[in-house]
Amino acid sequence: MKIFKNRKNLIENISGLKKIAFVPTMGALHKGHINLINKAKKKTNKVLISIYINPKQFSSKRDFRKYPRKLNKDIETLKNLRIDYLYIPNYKDIFLYKPKNKIYLDNFSKILCGKFRPFHFKGVVNIVNRFLEIIKPKFLYLGMKDFQQLSLIQSHITQNKIKTKIIKCPTIREKNGIAISSRNVLLDKNQIQNAAKIYKFIKKNKKLIFYKILNKKRHEVVSELTQLGASKIEYIECVNLDKQNICKSPTAKFNVFVAYYIGKVRLIDNL
Ligand code: AMP
Repeated sequence: MKIFKNRKNLIENISGLKKIAFVPTMGALHKGHINLINKAKKKTNKVLISIYINPKQFSSKRDFRKYPRKLNKDIETLKNLRIDYLYIPNYKDIFLYKPKNKIYLDNFSKILCGKFRPFHFKGVVNIVNRFLEIIKPKFLYLGMKDFQQLSLIQSHITQNKIKTKIIKCPTIREKNGIAISSRNVLLDKNQIQNAAKIYKFIKKNKKLIFYKILNKKRHEVVSELTQLGASKIEYIECVNLDKQNICKSPTAKFNVFVAYYIGKVRLIDNL
């Protein structure tokens, strides 16, 4: 595996490669990331992973500081997976690059996480755009766990006519149902059990939650989730996946989108 900390070296090594599959991550790699990587490996024989914790997408310094970092272990994991290229830029390397594309943020960025995390999606699209301009991948692997992020990156790609195809990958879950996330290591045993109860409740009561929200009884859902161990519910909404807006009618094909805290750890899911 070739490891690059400098974009100029990276560009020298990969320019001319026509079929790069790119998997951007913030590291602390887990089974969710590995699923994306394995899918990328099946598609082409040139897979490039990035590990970069982007300060511009964190709404609080504390959250940025506390984000899990496991670089040595990640490098071992990627070597074992026989990955071709790993890009680990520092702040200067990535932010001194002058992008050509204008950041496009669709209106979908104004609800759900975008409403509660100012500048988050602007930070995400900014960094992903830089990666796309530098790497010029044919395929970009993204997880449905971060559906809003995936959708906003897609809008930016379409708007800027970038020649990269997004490959959507399903959410990988623990046996107890909770979506695997780098942040899960910040939870203790009891908190993990509570997160699992919250997952089961939402999965079992999807339609009921939909009708309660529609009939202005969201507080009852919030109270239920609080009793199951959530310390704060940032939002719970039913979103029409095709139209990418909050459902107003009972017939829409929807997922329940939730962002909540267990202790000080913020978790998101959609199911
Ligand atoms: P992150 O390192 O959290 O920025 O995630 C990097 C990529 O992995 C993003 O496209 C995420 O949507 C995806 N991802 C993270 N967790 C999961 C999961 N549990 N299942 C599927 N994809 C995931």
